[in-house]
Amino acid sequence: MSAAPPNQARAGELRQLLQRAAHAYYVLDAPEMEDSVYDRLYRELLELEAAHPELITPDSPSQRVGGAPAEGFSSVEHRIGLLSLDNAFNPSDLDAWYGRLLKVLDREPATPLEMVGELKIDGNALALSYEHGLLVQAATRGDGERGEQITANVRTIASVPLRLQLENPPAWVEVRGEALIPDDTFAAINAERAARGEALFANPRNACAGTLRQLDPKVVAARRLDFFAYTLHLPKDTPQGPSSQWQSLQWLQTAGFKVNPNAELLPNLAAVQAFFSSWDTGRRALPYATDGVVVKLNDLRLQDAAGFTQKAPRWAIALKYAAEEAPSILLRLACQV
Ligand code: NAD
Repeated sequence: MSAAPPNQARAGELRQLLQRAAHAYYVLDAPEMEDSVYDRLYRELLELEAAHPELITPDSPSQRVGGAPAEGFSSVEHRIGLLSLDNAFNPSDLDAWYGRLLKVLDREPATPLEMVGELKIDGNALALSYEHGLLVQAATRGDGERGEQITANVRTIASVPLRLQLENPPAWVEVRGEALIPDDTFAAINAERAARGEALFANPRNACAGTLRQLDPKVVAARRLDFFAYTLHLPKDTPQGPSSQWQSLQWLQTAGFKVNPNAELLPNLAAVQAFFSSWDTGRRALPYATDGVVVKLNDLRLQDAAGFTQKAPRWAIALKYAAEEAPSILLRLACQV
């Protein structure tokens, strides 16, 4: 048998490394690889697949979101797919994304579009379902189509309203947002684990994921998680429903959610870049971890028109800050690459 051509062999190698790392990260909550190494390998795979689409396999990490729902919780189908975000690591990635967005919306190059800039909180996405104002279900993102049903655990998060503060709540409401563990709580949890001789959590996001999957809600309650809401879905016929992301954030706040106060309306791409740059230092003073900013097209009709790729909305992008070295994580796999 002849050896696989170099590109095919490298794509296979990358898929294997990334799949193993993603399983450790999303399913076992025990990362084996630095995020920056994961991101670099993932990008290499994307570039290889873009240049040689015949190398794309259905099981490629580029074709899926997150990880499969873990065992121990029932899995639930999301009413609306809960996808990931495409990433930009530099100004040219941002320009390329904006160019693609204008093209799909059939706009002239360099047309200004209003955006909302939000902090990218480094926690775990949750989907909360309310019926007639009552919280009936909370799920993790899982693979984007199905997540783990963790309602009992999410009920312990004080900033998640159990009942919406609305006089006439719609028949159903879907709220997405980020569960997180603040830095001081994270330090206290790891100090306790060290005292008991248990393995330490690699970072607050990982601690949060592990906590949300605790089978005992009392343990979750003791860990004092927090939640910022950032996405709202309502039935199409809701009277006076929001027509922009900015209005959605205001709606969420009125309904009783905690919305991150650092979101900003950004009139054009230069304002996006300035927002990103200002938070590079500003975020260090925040009491929780962030790893970038998320930029979303403000007008919900334009969002609908732009639509989604298989993995992510075309109308949003995560601009990531350069990773800081985290020497506590073992680079078991990095030495193989
Ligand atoms: P992501 O973290 O790059 O971005 C998507 C997520 O951003 C959303 O699901 C949501 O949870 C979050 N988010 C935070 N604030 C938000 C806001 N205001 N609006 C919308 N979403 C917001 O994507 P991902 O698919 O969750 O994870 C991919 C990343 O995970 C990689 O870039 C890598 O760094 C890391 N990862 C690491 C390993 C490893 O082995 N170290 C393995 C797999 C993934």
